[in-house]
Amino acid sequence: MIYNRCGNSGLLLPAISLGLWHNFGGVDIFQDGRNIIRRAFDKGITHFDLANNYGPPPGSAEENFGRFLKKDFPGHLRDELIISSKAGYLMWPGPYGEWGSRKYLVASCDQSLRRMGIDYVDIFYSHRPDPDTPLEETMMALDHIVKRGKALYVGLSNYDAEQTEKAIRILKNLGTPCLIHQPKYSMFVRWVEEPHSSVKKSLLDVLKENGVGCIPFSPLAQGLLSDRYLAGIPEGSRASKSWGFLKANEVTEEKIKIAQRLNEIAKKRKQSLTQMALSWLLKDKRITSVLIGVSSLEQLENNLGCLSNLDYSAEELGTIEKVLKGS
Ligand code: NDP
Repeated sequence: MIYNRCGNSGLLLPAISLGLWHNFGGVDIFQDGRNIIRRAFDKGITHFDLANNYGPPPGSAEENFGRFLKKDFPGHLRDELIISSKAGYLMWPGPYGEWGSRKYLVASCDQSLRRMGIDYVDIFYSHRPDPDTPLEETMMALDHIVKRGKALYVGLSNYDAEQTEKAIRILKNLGTPCLIHQPKYSMFVRWVEEPHSSVKKSLLDVLKENGVGCIPFSPLAQGLLSDRYLAGIPEGSRASKSWGFLKANEVTEEKIKIAQRLNEIAKKRKQSLTQMALSWLLKDKRITSVLIGVSSLEQLENNLGCLSNLDYSAEELGTIEKVLKGS
């Protein structure tokens, strides 16, 4: 494993981190998830990412993770893990179960700790910006959670460049610096590279300028940047499941055509398509870690292989851009 410094903090994160959004919930096979977590840790993946609502049902991924911890990570091993959770999306009914109020964030963090059976998370995120709550209130809630010892660091997810710049400033003034940002970023989703209309900077620029780390989620576009869908939608895949967030109508002919062409480039680089999609992100030194999902040990092993080829020639990058533009 390669460990990268997270922004200008003291924390090192593995270049590959594992998320429990899909495949670790109450609907999944417990032992399969347990085997994946054990193998990941043995391979040097020290960072596991959760959120209050991961499942389904919501909360069940955290409950299962708590059970994995009890069975396989006794006592001192907690000190070798970086566990994150988040709050922002709908978790419970009524007016206090989502978004960015202090009421919701503090209660949700306590609930996540109870579900996982741990005293603190390493990173606690505001999962999405709340248009109706003052940003100060949301950031003060994150600061409060850290000062109460319930989280060691805080992060932002799904905030644009302008919101991120403001949030970073507020957190700095409170004495709880923003550690990391978690945006959606892959060969197929590139918004983090584009200048924001009002601040005229990209999210990646804002993070670099402020010494904040970046951990892209869905780096494989939920599986579209793999060989999973090159010949249709196979049974058992995310797009085939009723609860999967990748909908069958997102597996378009256009995307598959691009994936097929990318696959040819990957072969020339002696990589699988997933390995190329991950190393393409990691080549940028602003990226601390890529946050993958996997449904099997084979996928995990395959994806880890990206670390042996992180370099790109200008020609390869140019060809990839052309393919992504569909030309
Ligand atoms: P990916 O883009 O890595 O997609 C994962 C899926 O891709 C797997 O479930 C699998 O699909 C397929 N896959 C992975 N490796 C391979 C392989 N080697 N060969 C073929 N197919 C492969 O990431 P996710 O969308 O799962 O997101 C990762 C994590 O990011 C989440 O678990 C969560 O922690 C975080 N996240 C955060 C969000 C936020 O708002 N902050 C939102 C979404 C995710 P299949 O199941 O079909 O086998």
